[in-house]
Amino acid sequence: MKSVAILGAGVAGLVGALAFARKGVASVILERTATLQEVGAGLQLSPNATYVLGKLGIAEQLAGLWREPDNICLVSGQTLAPITSIATKSIARSRWGSPYASIHRATLQKVLLERVAAEPLISLHLDMDCKSERDVAALLGGKPDLTIGADGVWSKFRQFIPQSGAPEFTGMVAWRFIIPERDAPSFLNPRNITAYVGAHAHIVAYPLKDAGAFNVVALSTGNNPGETWAADCNPAFRSEMTSQFSGWHRDIRTLLSYAPKPTWWPLFGVSHGRWTDGSSRILIGDAAHAMTPFAAQGAAMAIEDAFELAGVVTGNAPLADALLFFERNRQHRVSRVRSRGAFNKFAYHARGPVRVARDLVLKMRRPENVAADLDWLYGYKAPG
Ligand SMILES: Cc1cc2nc3c(=O)[nH]c(=O)nc-3n(C[C@H](O)[C@H](O)[C@H](O)COP(=O)(O)OP(=O)(O)OC[C@H]3O[C@@H](n4cnc5c(N)ncnc54)[C@H](O)[C@@H]3O)c2cc1C
Repeated sequence: MKSVAILGAGVAGLVGALAFARKGVASVILERTATLQEVGAGLQLSPNATYVLGKLGIAEQLAGLWREPDNICLVSGQTLAPITSIATKSIARSRWGSPYASIHRATLQKVLLERVAAEPLISLHLDMDCKSERDVAALLGGKPDLTIGADGVWSKFRQFIPQSGAPEFTGMVAWRFIIPERDAPSFLNPRNITAYVGAHAHIVAYPLKDAGAFNVVALSTGNNPGETWAADCNPAFRSEMTSQFSGWHRDIRTLLSYAPKPTWWPLFGVSHGRWTDGSSRILIGDAAHAMTPFAAQGAAMAIEDAFELAGVVTGNAPLADALLFFERNRQHRVSRVRSRGAFNKFAYHARGPVRVARDLVLKMRRPENVAADLDWLYGYKAPG
């Protein structure tokens, strides 16, 4: 493997370039935007993702910047009564081999970009909207051995993969905002990741040490706006957000009514289709398999993809075989993760008798058993 072109400098593209450099392979990243800016939002990095960041030698630096929450808690959105919790800080390293962390996206991006800039085997070109492979070849002075589409859910590169999938609206929308700790209501717990759950909707809140703030994401059913990534939340969006949570606890409604600068995200997924042409092209991250954030695994899957791809294609197998092997293995894992997200959605958004049964089952389960259910997900060690 001599030349690799990566389209997109999101988490998939940046981690991919670092993973190839770790294998001694040079890569060129072509990014559409002129300035890389992450929107103001947080990210949960589960142990399967922090494991890869550790392998790339970045986890130590990030550990000074991220927070390792004590627990993941499920709380009623109507009453604020606790339903169940899983310890994370005290068990993540011993049980899953790596920490569970929350971090501001901009911080992760900054650290990845610093590493990319310091790596002589990587060159990053901004302001390069690659619509055709001719654009890539012209820049590189020839067709690369491998072209990686890491260009997100609205990938243009996907069109070069026969039988690839297409983004579909999931029926869900998200409102995201960050609230400084000093302005946050006291029910937000700075030590935990908390999912406030209710009929057809839930809210996830967690602390961002690097921003001195809480990240809050409110998810509910919503309408399809067409191809959109994110939008500033105008008054109509805000009133839709507050109406979706109208039956919720007063403190939550108050928080949503003064949420500072929320952004609105329609959630699209890519759940079918091929990722590779079986020759020299492959999709990774959201370009391959964008998913709803119900298991908080989209970026984690992008990180695993990028790391595993570099390992597989720099092995002894012919490139075509390696790409097909990668696609088969990763599709299996991603589909299991997607099912876990669908299960979380069912459990979080339950109402009526299903909700009562859920609360009963969760109260009766021992915390070790709840944690053991997640071993396959969080304990996964991406081979690289
Ligand atoms: C509300 C919400 C909450 C989430 N929370 C979590 C979480 O807690 N944990 C988690 O693991 N995941 C989470 N996710 C999912 C996660 O954000 C995504 O899965 C992840 O960012 C995907 O990374 P990516 O690099 O594949 O794509 P992107 O981040 O979309 O990056 C794609 C890059 O490609 C560039 N690009 C696009 N077109 C071109 C082109 N033609 N040429 C060149 N460059 C191009 C773009 O500018 C961009 O820089 C969440 C998602 C949402 C919506």
